Amino acid sequence: MAKTAIISDIHANYHALSAVIEDVRAMQCTDLVCLGDVVGYNAYPSECLDYVRELKCPVVKGNHDEEVVTPSKARMNPVARQAMDWTRGQLDAPRLRWLSLLQYQRIVRTDVGKTFSIVHSSLNHPKAWNYIINASDASNNFPRQFSQMCFHGHTHVPKIFVWDGKHAEEDHDNLHPLYLNGYTEFQPLPNHKYFINVGSVGQPRDSDPRACYGIFDTDLNLVIIKRVEYDIRAAQDAIRAANLPDYLAERLEKGI
Ligand code: ZN
Repeated sequence: MAKTAIISDIHANYHALSAVIEDVRAMQCTDLVCLGDVVGYNAYPSECLDYVRELKCPVVKGNHDEEVVTPSKARMNPVARQAMDWTRGQLDAPRLRWLSLLQYQRIVRTDVGKTFSIVHSSLNHPKAWNYIINASDASNNFPRQFSQMCFHGHTHVPKIFVWDGKHAEEDHDNLHPLYLNGYTEFQPLPNHKYFINVGSVGQPRDSDPRACYGIFDTDLNLVIIKRVEYDIRAAQDAIRAANLPDYLAERLEKGI
């Protein structure tokens, strides 16, 4: 039996992470993978990093995980940059080293021998941190995707992209129930590839403030994307107590 929880973009939101992990256990997942951006923006980088590390699951590197170790001049807005500088001051050398050693992409093999890919942004330029927003963007990913299923994050917006061998399309029909009910499930079609964004645990940006994550059940050939309520107020209080930019607290309750 293999039922893998797929979590992404935790962004140091410990309240969201612990609520999601509680839900992962309630959903009786047997495995877990993390798609990066463990740190950045929110107030608990060390706690979230330690939590993920103790889960001993496959983790790939996100742009915030890279930026905190290797600061660059570009690519980050001022609010993210301020949070990043604060985050860097919170992490000790062993934690920074753990982040530095993360791979950009991985093939995950389940205990029943099935494989799928994980990456933070995309398989065609995993180190360039490009944003896969629409089917046209996704069409560049699929030639580099050698497994039927690949899961990614980075935009903080859940999406399902499908490749029929010739064209990439966005699968709105299977995503739509997530916005109606906070839950969707579907069976991937044979002879199609899927590139699925599981949304963000710690800073959703699709106007639904609840944490979001995915599940891939290889026994049932079933993909689930679902929302989880968490204590947003407590996460906001921690951001303000740490003197991080207030916008980071405001955006959590709006899901932006
Ligand atoms: Zn992110």
